[in-house]
This record gives sequence, structure tokens and C-alpha cells, in this order.
Amino acid sequence: MKATNKIFQVEKADYIICGSHVLTMNLKLESFAEGAVAVKGTSIVEVGKSDELLRKYPEARIIQGSNNVLLPGLINTHCHAAMVFFRGLADDLPLKEWLEKHIWPAEARWLTPEFVYDASELACLEMLKAGITSYNDMYFFGDSTARATKAMGMRASLGTGIIDFPTVAASTLDEYLANAEKFIGNWKGDDLISPCLAPHGAHTCGPETLKRSKKLAERLDVQLHMHLSETRWEVEEIMSKHGRRPVKYLDSIGFLDDRLVAAHCVHLDDAEIDLIAKKSVSVAHCVESNLKLASGIAPVPQMLKAGVRVTFGTDGAASNNDLNILSEMSTAAKLHKTIAQDPTVLDSKTALLMSTRLGAEALRLGDKIGSIEKGKAADIISINLRKPHLSPMYDIYSHIVYSAMASDVETVIVGGNILIQNGSHINGREDSIMQKASEWQSRIAAFNSSH
Ligand SMILES: [Zn+2]
Repeated sequence: MKATNKIFQVEKADYIICGSHVLTMNLKLESFAEGAVAVKGTSIVEVGKSDELLRKYPEARIIQGSNNVLLPGLINTHCHAAMVFFRGLADDLPLKEWLEKHIWPAEARWLTPEFVYDASELACLEMLKAGITSYNDMYFFGDSTARATKAMGMRASLGTGIIDFPTVAASTLDEYLANAEKFIGNWKGDDLISPCLAPHGAHTCGPETLKRSKKLAERLDVQLHMHLSETRWEVEEIMSKHGRRPVKYLDSIGFLDDRLVAAHCVHLDDAEIDLIAKKSVSVAHCVESNLKLASGIAPVPQMLKAGVRVTFGTDGAASNNDLNILSEMSTAAKLHKTIAQDPTVLDSKTALLMSTRLGAEALRLGDKIGSIEKGKAADIISINLRKPHLSPMYDIYSHIVYSAMASDVETVIVGGNILIQNGSHINGREDSIMQKASEWQSRIAAFNSSH
């Protein structure tokens, strides 16, 4: 009898969210007109035509959609979330001066666990409202970022910053690594937070720091996240110190494999591109930050052609100045066409793939997120197409990459939880998060004007 019951058992779903279009971003890039996604608990139960799903799951709550597109949540693969409180603090400067004369002193003055918590909440709110469901971060006081991210319901890979000079977070390499190990122990296995290690860069971390970070990442089985070849002077510095270009140098110390997400990769030669592809290193392309700091333009079409997993990162809000993957896609697609003098370069489907499935693979979460597929976590966003700048509509990929704005995002779901509804966070704390930002702004501005 038990077996018979099992055969006729009706599958259940908690809710069904409908869309005039559903882009799965799966391997076949399947899409459905008048589609829907059925969700139970934290996961996707089924994706398909909405009339079929509504018949199959009669008890499920229905979230109606009309003139909207459902797609996987966008993934931001390089961020310093808590830097949102330094947004617009110092602009229109070269990276070295911006970093050494403004950002690092501001961090030394202001960074505390409380600052990082409040700033991270604002960053998560900004990202969620722009359709970003996961981000890959590098900063200090990771426990604060993790708690803020959990409080906002978002998903993140959080890297403990490691650098070869004392900061507010630690003084010695031993202390940095001990902090990192403790942080990873606190969060490993969490449903939303993937802790990892983030040595700042090959120019700010010596070979011993990099080798010990790599060893720890392997022992604890976590990701590595670092800056790589962002500026020309950084490449020259590494060449003069180590006698090789940065990627070759990192390979020589055994640092390169699929554990690594390398942000920027602006200044690469052909051999370095091939090496990055061969070693399966993931690249976070931060086009708007690179443009704003005039660091250069990463050879994205060449990397894609060589088989490199290229994804999109916003970098911190102090160098962008927003956390918006929709605009990164649009800027990158247009820029690379012009550089290549070829409008077929970085087409809209490729751009969306980079910000969804490839982003998930970069964070080694490809089996969990990055596409709308049965069994994956329900990280889904809905974009409202009922807007003047999205009408008429002939090609949905084109609209998402070239026309959609963050303010068009109306629903955001992470791990089955509906976080953003009609464009607002359901926790009702947007006003208090903004109020805290304004209080921090007053303190920072008052300090700056007195110095
Ligand atoms: Zn960065």
C-alpha cells in the first residue's frame, strides 16, 4: 500500500511565480513565454509553462506576473560592500593616489565592526534592489558583513582581507591568517554565506603570504579572491620584484587554479590569457571601476575566446560609484564592441550568462545557483517590462542588457525567500538603513572638514 501511495503522491510547491518570459540560463539557454517557476522551501521544484504548473500544483500560492521577465538572480563577483560609506568621498584621482592618500587613511580612521555592519546592510539593500542575489566580497571584519548579509537575506562569498601591512584588522601575517581561519570556522556550512580568503593582490602580498593563503584555502577547502593586474604600475612593480609578469609569477608559486577569482585582469598578454584559461582561474571584469580610475580595459573578448570564465564585478562603491550589475553589462557590451570595432562582440546573451551561470561557477556554486533549474536554490528575480524604456519588446536578452535599469527590478527571491516585493525590501527597514547611512555621513564629513 505504501508503494502505491508513493506512486500517486502529488508533488507539492509552496508558491508559483509567473512571468511573461522566463529565462532559465541553463546549458540549453531554454526560455518560456508565459512561463512560471514552482518553489518549495529553499529550492526550485519545476520551471515550465505557467498553465501546466498551475494545473500541477493546485495548492500553491500564486504570484502573478504580467509583462515581466523572470531570470536567475544576478551575481556580483567582485565587491567591497562596506565601502558604500566611502561612496563619492574621493573621486577623479589615479588609483594609487586614490587608494594611498584617501581610501586607506579613511579605512584606518573609520573601520570598526559597527561601521562594516551598517555599511554592509546598505550595500545589500542596494544590490538586492538592483537584482543582485549573490556577491563575492573582500574586506575586513567579515563577521559583521556576514551578519548584515544574513539579516538582509542575501547570499555571499566573503573573503577575509589579507595584506602585507598592519591594518585595523590585524598586524602580522600570522594574525591575518588566524583571523581568517576563525572566520571560516564560524561560517563554513552556512546556507547563505560561503567564507573564503582574500589576499589583496600580488603587489601588496609577498610570496610567503600568497603561498600560506593558498595552503590554508586548500586545507579548509574554500575559495581565494584577489586583485590581479589592475594597473600598469602594479604589473611593472611585480616584474621588477619577481622578474616575470604577474600571472606567470603567480603560476610559478603554484597559486593558480579554479579556487581563484581574480578581479580586473586588465593588463594581460596573450600567454597570460592562455595560462588563466588553462588553470581555470575565474575573472571578475569590473569595467566601470576600471574606466573611472582609468586603469585600462580588460581584454574580455580575447579571454572569452580563449575559454576563460569571465564574470562581472562592481568593485567597491568608492570606485564605481554604484553596485549595479545591469549597468556593468550594458557598459561592458558597448565598450568592447567599440574597442574591437566589431558590434558582434560581447552579445547580450553572453553578457547575461557572465552575470548568472558563469558567476555561479566562479564562486564554485554552479551546482546550487546561476540558473533556474529543478533542484537549484530559488534565487530568482523579476523585472517589470511595463516601462516606456522597455517598450516595445522584440528581444528579451537585448532589453535586459541594453535597456533595463535597477529600478525596473520588482521581485527578488533568495533561497526561496521573497526579499524584494514591488521594489521594496519586505523587512521594512529601508528607512532605518538609510538613516544610519546619513548618520555615518555626518561623522565622516565632519572629520574630513576638520582635517
Ligand atoms: Zn577591488
